[in-house]
Amino acid sequence: MAKYNPKSLIAEEFISDEEIRATLEYAEANKNNVELIDAILDKARPQKKDNGTFCTGLNHREASVLLACEIPEKIQEMYKLAEEIKQAFYGNRIVMFAPLYLSNYCVNGCVYCPYHHQNKTICRKKLTQEEVRNEVIALQDMGHKRLAIESGEDPVNNPIEYILECIDTIYSIKHKNGAIRRVNVNIAATTVENYKKLKDAGIGTYILFQETYHKESYLKLHPTGPKHDYAYHTEAMDRAMQGGIDDVGLGVLFGLELYKYEFAGLLMHAEHLEAVHGVGPHTISVPRIKRADDIDPDVFDNGIDDDTFAKICALIRISTPYTGMIISTRESQAVREKVIKLGVSQISGASRTSVGGYTEEERPHDSEQFDVSDTRTLDEVVKWLMELGHIPSFCTACYREGRTGDRFMSLCKSGQIQNCCHPNALMTLKEFLMDYASEDTKKIGEALIQAELENIPKEKVKEICKENLEKIQNGIRDFRF
Ligand code: SAM
Repeated sequence: MAKYNPKSLIAEEFISDEEIRATLEYAEANKNNVELIDAILDKARPQKKDNGTFCTGLNHREASVLLACEIPEKIQEMYKLAEEIKQAFYGNRIVMFAPLYLSNYCVNGCVYCPYHHQNKTICRKKLTQEEVRNEVIALQDMGHKRLAIESGEDPVNNPIEYILECIDTIYSIKHKNGAIRRVNVNIAATTVENYKKLKDAGIGTYILFQETYHKESYLKLHPTGPKHDYAYHTEAMDRAMQGGIDDVGLGVLFGLELYKYEFAGLLMHAEHLEAVHGVGPHTISVPRIKRADDIDPDVFDNGIDDDTFAKICALIRISTPYTGMIISTRESQAVREKVIKLGVSQISGASRTSVGGYTEEERPHDSEQFDVSDTRTLDEVVKWLMELGHIPSFCTACYREGRTGDRFMSLCKSGQIQNCCHPNALMTLKEFLMDYASEDTKKIGEALIQAELENIPKEKVKEICKENLEKIQNGIRDFRF
């Protein structure tokens, strides 16, 4: 049996099944140990140091004890702490993005995904560069500045050259005041050489969901195709980092395996990246299985209810305080509202999960990857967020200023985030209001910006931000700190 070693580059050593099982036993044995639970919660609390606030986070064993704990008052404490940590590092900002599906050709046999190659009913599509252009214009016209490109795995139909060409096309399109300023990439595990190419193409985060950390289940859930190779998939983030990409995004597809197992695996993966590369994951996504073309989510036994889902989100926030958390339109408005408070920092809006979906008048279902629960327009989502007291942010500054990997983490830890991310959020929201918002949204947004300007600590930064807002009002775009 493989010995647990977070510094190893071998999948079965840094995600050790033995260590996960021991963790789950330890968590179960201590789930009513109030003294230990209190000590873990205390360890995770934000602390003041020099000018900033810092958090130590929790390791997979500590976090698993909290996940196992079912004492209602302790769960409320976890929620409160998650909210506090969210406030300390992310304030009330929520970064907006949209997925862009390039191709649903796929050679894999993933049993939960409608793109699996045996599916003969789904309409297979791959965007031409002209179609990419039209989709991007449609996304720009909604107000999006940040995309996550998505594609099935198919070396013939969607080779890396195709993905790179699409990225070039996306960045090149300047339509009215629109621009896509950050392209994140969610494509199958690949080689160091290909990760270098993605890095050179100027991508933001490389995102790859592990789906499940349980090797035996992984092999059954991915019976055929290159994705069947558990080690190659699990070690992908190390290759991405070797290729120079220092912002990587992890995720588990909740519903496939027992959530406590997945949660421990996810945190062990984050600890491994920190141990080997000196920087943890930039983001963690928390998708749950959804209905799709020939996929019935009820076939999978491990679905989790909304309360468990919220607890997982809160505990990810507590355990990895400097890692962004992403929630997609797989979740309903009500669930999104709950987990945004508990620590989610990025959400998608007005998503179409079909290839070519943004240029269709009606939401198409023939090539969709999954059913969308939150079907509101971007303007509606932005308005809703502001009414709840959040600042929708279209900021893409960090990676364009070279603040990636540990440089981003230092910004988080230094206390300067409020002088940087906060004004950037206000300026990019102002752009949205000027160029894309409805009258109602604009009114709420202008008032919010005026009120939130007062929350910029440094006078000098506040002054510059005010000047820039004035310039945006007069038609100039793209300011950042
Ligand atoms: N093909 C790439 C890969 O293999 O990693 C990534 C792109 S895939 C379009 C994005 C993610 O969608 C997958 O990693 C999976 O977690 C998720 N997904 C697949 N089927 C789903 C379903 N039925 N419901 C919800 N999410 C699903």
